[in-house]
Amino acid sequence: MSVVIGCSTAESSETVQKDSQRPILVQGPMPIEAEEFAERLENVKEEKSGTFEFYIGTVDNYPVIVAKTGKGMENTAAATAVAIERYNPIAIINQGTSGGHDPNLHVFDIVLGKRSVNIGSLKTADRDENEGIKPTEWKPMDLMASEGSAGEDPNAENIRYYKGDMDLLAAANAVKEKYKKGKIVEGTIGSADVWNNEVDRIKWFHNKYGTSVEEMETASAAQISKAYDVPFLGIRILSNNKVNGGEYNPTTASANQEYVYEVVKKYVSTLPSK
Ligand code: SAH
Repeated sequence: MSVVIGCSTAESSETVQKDSQRPILVQGPMPIEAEEFAERLENVKEEKSGTFEFYIGTVDNYPVIVAKTGKGMENTAAATAVAIERYNPIAIINQGTSGGHDPNLHVFDIVLGKRSVNIGSLKTADRDENEGIKPTEWKPMDLMASEGSAGEDPNAENIRYYKGDMDLLAAANAVKEKYKKGKIVEGTIGSADVWNNEVDRIKWFHNKYGTSVEEMETASAAQISKAYDVPFLGIRILSNNKVNGGEYNPTTASANQEYVYEVVKKYVSTLPSK
């Protein structure tokens, strides 16, 4: 917060007020998953760091930054850490498209990430040469279990879930009725730099991890948000669902941003500094 001493004009008190408002960060991986939201911002200026683009503006006079992170876990982790260090966000929403793991979810349905999990963090079974590869025997590996070797540590053989923030979830649930293109449910978002098209493998994750959808970013942003203790929520629309024949539809990306815009407005209205 900036401190202005001995000055009482309206203009400088407004500066003090604005500086005390920490921005909400809304992340999207691909241009179609970020630019639509960025266009809804007012008073926008753009900044770049590496390949990450930040659209800095306002929604209802509250600071909101849209980050175009690029796809995948590494881009997302780095873009999240850079944004936290540079902009000190009060909350982070990672949003975009996803593929269904739950047969009851269809293209255009939206999952609010009550939990997210890295489904690429795995330890294989012990098998010698010529004993083959058995992916269904692979175990979850929790890289946050300890600072020691995850390969040796039996305590690391657990599924690490990151919880979605309750206040962000409440804001998202409060504006559910505004979304007319599908249903909105709370669920588990699984993330990895993998696009799974094997239905039996998808079922394996769905049964073992309880995943509702998969994509390539949420768990990574959740992990870094937790490292800095910043409230976080993933919001993912289904653009495809292999388990019930849902064909990929890229226009879901803009439908999700329309909904997330409503979530942000609701969340802003609940903030004490607003
Ligand atoms: N280059 C790849 C597509 C990658 S797109 C190809 O041409 O096949 C991946 C992006 O879409 C990621 O940002 C991810 O979050 C999202 N996504 C949508 N559906 C997905 C699915 N079924 N599995 C993994 N990622 C998915």
